[in-house]
Amino acid sequence: MARVHNFSAGPAALPLPVLEEIQQELVDYRGCGMSVLEMSHRSQAYAQIIDDAEATLRRIIGIPDTYRVLFLQGGATLQFAGIPLNLMRRGRAGYVVSGHFAKLAWQEAARYGDARMLATSEDTGFDRIPDLSRIREQARDLDYVYICQNNTIFGTMFHALPDTGDTPLVADVSSCFLSMPLDIERYGLVYAGAQKNAGPAGVTVVIVREDLIGEGPALECCPTYMSYRRQADAKSMMNTPNTFGIYVCGKVFRWVEQQGGLKAMAQTNSEKARILYDVLDASEVFRPFAEPASRSIANVTFRCATPELDAAFIEGARGRGIEGVKAHRLTGGMRASIYNAVSLDGVKALAAYMQDFEESRRS
Ligand code: PLP
Repeated sequence: MARVHNFSAGPAALPLPVLEEIQQELVDYRGCGMSVLEMSHRSQAYAQIIDDAEATLRRIIGIPDTYRVLFLQGGATLQFAGIPLNLMRRGRAGYVVSGHFAKLAWQEAARYGDARMLATSEDTGFDRIPDLSRIREQARDLDYVYICQNNTIFGTMFHALPDTGDTPLVADVSSCFLSMPLDIERYGLVYAGAQKNAGPAGVTVVIVREDLIGEGPALECCPTYMSYRRQADAKSMMNTPNTFGIYVCGKVFRWVEQQGGLKAMAQTNSEKARILYDVLDASEVFRPFAEPASRSIANVTFRCATPELDAAFIEGARGRGIEGVKAHRLTGGMRASIYNAVSLDGVKALAAYMQDFEESRRS
């Protein structure tokens, strides 16, 4: 079996033991005589699967009972609307526009109320987290302050959370979910598309403080499906959920737990990132994209001096079993997404290839 080193930003690599376990159980799930793919979401066997997924997630993050966990569909993108629809009770929220997805979220929220841009780094091409020194004062009287904690495309992340005072912090953690500890009580709501670190595409995990969802959504026009209250009351089964996707997420959560949990994940991920940034900092061929203080431990972005050299690097990577390093069109160049399932050995293989590539350009 030849598996490549997969540095895709998402859908991304899954841990091999998880895939193998799924393969084992695919046709006959634990003596049920049917696959999870064929199973009613109302069955007892499935209730066990979704309850177990939630319980494992609660254990690894340390989610208190005052927060609800939802497994929804529609990708992270649907939450760009779901958040204002549910939480904009006074009709005003603040957005930190630190990248493409934060900008989309801000634009979507503006359809439902007064969505204020509190800070942005667009003027420097989203190469950093913007200055947030005034955020506490700006946050006053807002329904929430929204951040995208890790900017997948640009390779930047918040290394400290903004102080928003009493105003709830809402965070898109899609590309840093489960890659490091999450101090959940610092947030009013976090959400993540699963397809990076938590499972397959088609599941979005929302973790929300129960008091924020109150009796129902802030706006009457909120579709029933998007009501966090309804979804929480129905335990994410108001309609047919993504049964198989949630099953896979549950397995990934267990795998994370078996690896030592989120602290262990953070340690390995920091080490993986350090290896690549060290190569970049010593290089005369590659240029790191993100400003050093804002560098992500999940997505490492870089370029060569010309698009032709970038193309040669990406082409050459294939021959070394390295896939998914082509960056998003907004930055061009390369991006190595080093989520949990990407091994230290995989990162070392990429670093070795980068060094060989550099050598070949110099000689
Ligand atoms: N937010 C972040 C940080 C992302 O990286 C992405 C996709 O890569 C999205 C939102 C959009 O996610 P989806 O495609 O699940 O809607």
